[in-house]
Amino acid sequence: MTTQAQPHHIAEAKAIPDSLEEMRRAAAAIIAGSRAARAPHRLPDDLPGLLRRRAHREWRVPVRHTPLSLRGGFTETTFTYSEEEARTEAGRCLDCDRFCSICVGVCPNLAILTYASAPMAVDVPSLRIEGGRVVAGPAHRLRVEQRLQVAVLTDFCNECGNCATFCPTAGTPYRDKPRLYLDRVDFEAQQENAFMLLGHGVIEARSAGETHRVAVDGGITCSTPRVSVRLDPMTWEVREARAAPGAADGEVSLQACAAGYALLVSLSAAAPFLPAASAVGGGTFVAHPGYEE
Ligand code: SF4
Ligand code: SF4
Repeated sequence: MTTQAQPHHIAEAKAIPDSLEEMRRAAAAIIAGSRAARAPHRLPDDLPGLLRRRAHREWRVPVRHTPLSLRGGFTETTFTYSEEEARTEAGRCLDCDRFCSICVGVCPNLAILTYASAPMAVDVPSLRIEGGRVVAGPAHRLRVEQRLQVAVLTDFCNECGNCATFCPTAGTPYRDKPRLYLDRVDFEAQQENAFMLLGHGVIEARSAGETHRVAVDGGITCSTPRVSVRLDPMTWEVREARAAPGAADGEVSLQACAAGYALLVSLSAAAPFLPAASAVGGGTFVAHPGYEE
């Protein structure tokens, strides 16, 4: 996980393999066409500079006091900062509201990764099976606005809890953040929040104990245990939809597919070096640009 301008834990978008360019274009079109009203999450203006400052302890500007020998009268004993002192003190701010990633730095196993995420907004259709037919309903908007996201390489995590101890917002990063798996048995044992990159524009997600699959190949195909849907890559409108044989009537959610899609697009661009589970052998083997298993 290396970049030129930033420490090794931060994955920035760089050269993208051709096979992923489609996804980038689709994501860019979705972003451009979205009606997102809120401003996207801003990065600190000087991220490398901020990272350098975070690597050094900057002590607090001392508060000036009146010497004990001069405290016999009404002289103020504790002074406020001068303008220069106040500016120096304020300059110690590390902008942790815009960039934290403390969990990344404290993980002894390098199991957490910060990656740059393109803001996006997609209108995820709601679906319903009625008598074996799939009917599309109103869409629900999924937004991704935060520019730096954190994900867990679950196979490296031994659940030591260090990241939870240090998280300033009392989070449990190794459980809360998107968890990427390489081993299919481990992956399929999860009820929620588990993702498996399979390479070639494919990702799977676990939701409610079921596996949902997204394939991006110029269009978007979402496969859930009950439906298979082909979506327009720009608008997410339903192009084709099929109910699985014997699928019961009722609502079908594509939210897990949408979350997987957002993760797939961002990680494909920002962290193309991440290993993917090989589709060969049921996803228990690892495919990586650098080696074959
Ligand atoms: S999970 Fe906690 S430690 Fe990690 S980036 Fe978020 S706030 Fe920071
Ligand atoms: S719980 Fe996992 S992700 Fe968190 S610090 Fe420990 S090994 Fe790293």
